[in-house]
Amino acid sequence: MEQKVAMNTRSKSNEDSEIINWFDMVTENAGLVQTQTLRRILQLNYGVEYLKKWFGDIEIQDMDENALETLYTSLVPLVSHADLEPYIQRISDGDTSPILTQQPITNLSLSSGTTEGRQKYVPFTRHSSQTTLQIFRLAAAYRSRVYPIRPGGRILELIYSSKQFKTKGGLTAGTATTHYYASEEFRIKQEKTKSFTCSPKEVISSGDYKQSTYCHLLLGLYYSQEVEFITSTFAYSLIQAFRSFEELWQELCNDIREGTLSSRITLPTVRKAVLDIISPNPSLAEKIEANCKDLEGSNWFGLIPKLWPNAKYVYSIMTGSMLSYIKKLREYAGELALVSADYGSTESWIGVNVDPSKSPENVTFAVVPTFSYFEFIPLRRQNKTKDYKSATDDFIEDDPVPLSQVKIGQEYEIVVTTFTGLYRYRLGDVVEVAGFYKGTPKLNFIYRRKLILTVNIDKNTEKDLQLVVEKGSQLLSRSHAELVDFTSHADIANQPGHYIIYWEIKGEVDDRILGECCSEMDASFVDHGYVVSRRTNSIGPLELRIVERGTFKKIVDQLMGNGAGIGQFKTPRCTSNQVLLKILNLCTIKTFHSTAYA
Ligand code: AMP
Repeated sequence: MEQKVAMNTRSKSNEDSEIINWFDMVTENAGLVQTQTLRRILQLNYGVEYLKKWFGDIEIQDMDENALETLYTSLVPLVSHADLEPYIQRISDGDTSPILTQQPITNLSLSSGTTEGRQKYVPFTRHSSQTTLQIFRLAAAYRSRVYPIRPGGRILELIYSSKQFKTKGGLTAGTATTHYYASEEFRIKQEKTKSFTCSPKEVISSGDYKQSTYCHLLLGLYYSQEVEFITSTFAYSLIQAFRSFEELWQELCNDIREGTLSSRITLPTVRKAVLDIISPNPSLAEKIEANCKDLEGSNWFGLIPKLWPNAKYVYSIMTGSMLSYIKKLREYAGELALVSADYGSTESWIGVNVDPSKSPENVTFAVVPTFSYFEFIPLRRQNKTKDYKSATDDFIEDDPVPLSQVKIGQEYEIVVTTFTGLYRYRLGDVVEVAGFYKGTPKLNFIYRRKLILTVNIDKNTEKDLQLVVEKGSQLLSRSHAELVDFTSHADIANQPGHYIIYWEIKGEVDDRILGECCSEMDASFVDHGYVVSRRTNSIGPLELRIVERGTFKKIVDQLMGNGAGIGQFKTPRCTSNQVLLKILNLCTIKTFHSTAYA
């Protein structure tokens, strides 16, 4: 046995060195690797309808890499999803001619990355799964240098496939993670990283996130001594699962004691798969029960290390819109390290976290130069003192630059050219170059570019809102209450237009404090357009609406019905969706108006 563990450890460490050496090699000459990557993409897809439209009959096969890069960026325009939508629609409807790629596209993924609340399709190919496997292995190798784990152990993976369905043309559609969990690469990842997920595939792909969560938790507890780390794609799923755990623990303990499965699990395939694994374990149930009784008294602080004593860290995307869940996650994780996971989108993987010991607030992502061809649009903030009324956007854009020309401290919007047929496609994410790993930039994820709150000349992004909500919610700690989740809406139907922020809170809070939270948030928007408009009352006082407990669960349920997977779920931080607004407004129990500019 010991010999086997030693062998496993050795082969895992060889695998780790191999992939890190590969990364060192490709990042050493990242600029060159980028031009080679572009060339490969263009050669593979030479002659497809979309490229022909811009290249005409120009022969690119024997062209020098630098000349090809110049030609490409001068002939092919920057686009957004809307520009490519008609092409993707034809593919979705069954047109098999080479439109965007030479290889026929058989899968489409639902992306949320560039959307305004509506999900959009992007092509998914074998290459997408392969890069997912590669970045997971690479990230695992960096993590194991800092937090070594026992080969052959288990991972409590709170992961979910959404429902896959067929488009009109017979293509398989679902979220990118859904395609990945169904792929051969997901199986290979477990073998290569020598860590095995607790749940069988029937649980991951049940299509009902509540049933999946229950089973993930049950099996995670069942294997609790073997669990080496706990993970999900986005931190939201971890919070969602542990909040459910606070309510479900007695039922879970019961199932562990008896070797049974709660009647809330109704899907026959899931029931069979889970019951095939578990058998009665009264002593484990007793231990968990005693721990939960202690934890309940301390607001579940340190839940993870207490119940999973051998876990080394918690691993998930905690940056961007997930930042607001870190506080709660730290409470659940106690002393355990929070390791922020890598940066990618349905369109392409982008960067890997090469410094896993950094706190999620400071994490950066080293761009992987073989995954796609990346360009960076330099963004300059508008001079706020000039005539802001003429501003149509929050930034002035300069011409895009290749990866080799980015500068430290500069903010950029990322543009990708992918193996899956997206050409100079604006991702809508704003990043800042924080430094370099060999020749490749390390990016700080700043936020999604799109403005979310705007009534007239005011411009606030998701990040602005997040900072404001953070400031306002700090006042809640006086009452030992906490913010569960939030969203917002720019109400322009009533005059003057104003912002509404919806909060779901856990705990009791005095109305006086909530009134203060509301004014604090109103005063914390620093955008010049907002401040001026508030002073002149052309934007009305900010409104804080407190919604009843469970409201955000209803929102998840509503959005899950649209084919979204909980694994990639991000609470919309601003919404004009009438169905969501109806839920929010029906569930509003208290309303406050700011007195900040009174
Ligand atoms: P999706 O289209 O659902 O795959 O979501 C992709 C989007 O999620 C990206 O465009 C980013 O806005 C966000 N995202 C992905 N990875 C990270 C990360 N590590 N940190 C912050 N935001 C991320």
